[in-house]
Amino acid sequence: MGPQDQPDYVNAVAEIASSLAPMALLSRLQKIEHLRGRNRDGGRWTARTLDLDILLIGNEIIQMPDLLVPHPGIKEREFVLYPLHEIAPDLQFPCGNSLKSVLKKVSRNGLFVIEKEIKWGKELK
Ligand code: ATP
Ligand code: CA
Ligand code: CA
Repeated sequence: MGPQDQPDYVNAVAEIASSLAPMALLSRLQKIEHLRGRNRDGGRWTARTLDLDILLIGNEIIQMPDLLVPHPGIKEREFVLYPLHEIAPDLQFPCGNSLKSVLKKVSRNGLFVIEKEIKWGKELK
Protein backbone atom coordinates (compact mmCIF):
# COMPACT_ATOMS: atom_id res chain seq x y z
CA MET A 1 0.00 0.00 0.00
CA GLY A 2 1.56 3.30 -1.05
CA PRO A 3 4.47 3.98 -3.39
CA GLN A 4 7.85 2.24 -3.02
CA ASP A 5 10.01 5.04 -4.43
CA GLN A 6 10.34 7.13 -1.29
CA PRO A 7 13.41 7.84 0.77
CA ASP A 8 13.78 5.60 3.85
CA TYR A 9 11.64 6.61 6.76
CA VAL A 10 11.38 5.78 10.43
CA ASN A 11 8.18 4.29 11.82
CA ALA A 12 7.01 3.93 15.37
CA VAL A 13 3.82 2.88 17.11
CA ALA A 14 2.82 4.38 20.43
CA GLU A 15 -0.01 3.67 22.82
CA ILE A 16 -1.51 6.80 24.31
CA ALA A 17 -4.27 7.64 26.76
CA SER A 18 -6.45 10.56 25.72
CA SER A 19 -9.74 12.04 26.82
CA LEU A 20 -10.22 13.67 23.40
CA ALA A 21 -13.01 12.51 21.12
CA PRO A 22 -11.65 10.73 18.01
CA MET A 23 -12.07 13.69 15.61
CA ALA A 24 -10.55 16.07 18.15
CA LEU A 25 -7.63 13.69 18.52
CA LEU A 26 -7.13 13.63 14.75
CA SER A 27 -7.17 17.45 14.65
CA ARG A 28 -4.61 17.58 17.44
CA LEU A 29 -2.34 15.14 15.61
CA GLN A 30 -2.60 17.19 12.43
CA LYS A 31 -1.71 20.30 14.40
CA ILE A 32 1.41 18.54 15.70
CA GLU A 33 2.31 17.51 12.12
CA HIS A 34 1.95 21.13 11.07
CA LEU A 35 4.08 22.36 13.97
CA ARG A 36 6.75 19.88 12.84
CA GLY A 37 6.89 21.50 9.43
CA ARG A 38 4.53 19.32 7.43
CA ASN A 39 2.69 21.01 4.62
CA ARG A 40 0.00 19.15 2.74
CA ASP A 41 0.81 20.45 -0.75
CA GLY A 42 2.62 17.35 -1.94
CA GLY A 43 -0.40 15.04 -2.08
CA ARG A 44 -0.91 11.74 -0.35
CA TRP A 45 1.95 9.34 0.28
CA THR A 46 4.69 11.82 -0.62
CA ALA A 47 7.69 12.23 1.69
CA ARG A 48 6.90 14.38 4.72
CA THR A 49 8.46 15.52 7.92
CA LEU A 50 5.93 13.75 10.14
CA ASP A 51 2.84 11.60 9.65
CA LEU A 52 0.74 10.77 12.68
CA ASP A 53 -2.06 8.27 12.06
CA ILE A 54 -4.62 6.84 14.44
CA LEU A 55 -4.28 3.08 14.09
CA LEU A 56 -6.75 1.79 16.65
CA ILE A 57 -8.96 3.16 19.38
CA GLY A 58 -9.60 0.11 21.53
CA ASN A 59 -12.22 -2.00 19.77
CA GLU A 60 -14.02 0.97 18.23
CA ILE A 61 -14.96 1.00 14.58
CA ILE A 62 -15.29 4.52 13.17
CA GLN A 63 -16.35 5.20 9.61
CA MET A 64 -16.55 8.94 9.18
CA PRO A 65 -15.65 10.88 6.01
CA ASP A 66 -12.38 12.08 7.54
CA LEU A 67 -11.63 9.30 9.99
CA LEU A 68 -11.49 5.55 9.55
CA VAL A 69 -10.58 3.42 12.56
CA PRO A 70 -8.99 0.90 12.51
CA HIS A 71 -6.71 2.63 10.03
CA PRO A 72 -7.46 1.07 6.62
CA GLY A 73 -3.83 0.15 5.94
CA ILE A 74 -3.14 -1.44 9.29
CA LYS A 75 -3.26 -5.10 8.28
CA GLU A 76 -1.18 -4.71 5.14
CA ARG A 77 1.70 -2.60 6.33
CA GLU A 78 4.71 -4.35 7.73
CA PHE A 79 5.99 -1.04 9.06
CA VAL A 80 2.87 -0.77 11.21
CA LEU A 81 2.36 -4.43 12.17
CA TYR A 82 5.90 -5.18 13.39
CA PRO A 83 6.24 -2.10 15.63
CA LEU A 84 2.70 -2.72 16.90
CA HIS A 85 3.70 -6.26 17.82
CA GLU A 86 6.59 -4.88 19.86
CA ILE A 87 4.22 -3.05 22.20
CA ALA A 88 1.11 -5.26 21.99
CA PRO A 89 1.99 -8.83 21.01
CA ASP A 90 -1.37 -10.23 22.11
CA LEU A 91 -3.49 -7.62 20.37
CA GLN A 92 -6.73 -8.57 18.68
CA PHE A 93 -8.25 -6.37 16.01
CA PRO A 94 -11.91 -5.35 16.35
CA CYS A 95 -12.75 -7.87 13.57
CA GLY A 96 -11.53 -10.66 15.87
CA ASN A 97 -8.29 -11.49 14.01
CA SER A 98 -5.19 -11.63 16.14
CA LEU A 99 -2.17 -9.52 15.31
CA LYS A 100 -0.06 -12.69 15.40
CA SER A 101 -2.18 -14.37 12.72
CA VAL A 102 -2.04 -11.30 10.48
CA LEU A 103 1.72 -11.01 10.93
CA LYS A 104 2.20 -14.56 9.64
CA LYS A 105 1.04 -13.35 6.23
CA VAL A 106 3.14 -10.19 6.06
CA SER A 107 6.89 -10.33 5.57
CA ARG A 108 9.28 -7.75 6.95
CA ASN A 109 9.96 -6.59 3.41
CA GLY A 110 13.30 -5.04 4.31
CA LEU A 111 12.07 -3.51 7.55
CA PHE A 112 14.63 -3.48 10.33
CA VAL A 113 14.82 -2.29 13.91
CA ILE A 114 16.99 0.74 14.42
CA GLU A 115 19.38 -0.27 17.16
CA LYS A 116 19.04 1.77 20.30
CA GLU A 117 22.79 2.31 20.14
CA ILE A 118 22.36 4.56 17.14
CA LYS A 119 23.00 8.00 18.48
CA TRP A 120 19.64 9.60 18.01
CA GLY A 121 20.95 12.98 19.07
CA LYS A 122 23.63 12.75 16.40
CA GLU A 123 21.20 11.58 13.71
CA LEU A 124 18.47 14.08 14.38
CA LYS A 125 20.35 17.20 15.49
P1 ATP B 1 -2.54 6.73 4.83
O1 ATP B 1 -3.82 7.19 5.51
O2 ATP B 1 -2.77 5.75 3.73
O3 ATP B 1 -1.48 6.30 5.81
P2 ATP B 1 -1.41 9.35 4.70
O4 ATP B 1 -1.18 9.16 6.16
O5 ATP B 1 -0.26 9.77 3.86
O6 ATP B 1 -2.01 8.01 4.06
P3 ATP B 1 -2.63 11.84 4.94
O7 ATP B 1 -2.43 12.74 3.77
O8 ATP B 1 -1.75 12.04 6.15
O9 ATP B 1 -2.59 10.35 4.45
O10 ATP B 1 -4.13 11.94 5.47
C1 ATP B 1 -5.20 11.98 4.57
C2 ATP B 1 -6.50 11.97 5.36
O11 ATP B 1 -6.72 10.70 5.96
C3 ATP B 1 -6.55 12.92 6.53
O12 ATP B 1 -6.93 14.20 6.13
C4 ATP B 1 -7.58 12.28 7.46
O13 ATP B 1 -8.81 12.96 7.44
C5 ATP B 1 -7.77 10.90 6.85
N1 ATP B 1 -7.81 9.80 7.81
C6 ATP B 1 -8.78 8.84 7.78
N2 ATP B 1 -8.58 7.95 8.75
C7 ATP B 1 -7.46 8.34 9.42
C8 ATP B 1 -6.75 7.79 10.54
N3 ATP B 1 -7.15 6.66 11.15
N4 ATP B 1 -5.63 8.45 10.97
C9 ATP B 1 -5.22 9.57 10.34
N5 ATP B 1 -5.85 10.15 9.28
C10 ATP B 1 -6.96 9.52 8.82
CA1 CA C 1 0.01 7.35 7.07
CA1 CA D 1 -1.67 10.52 7.92
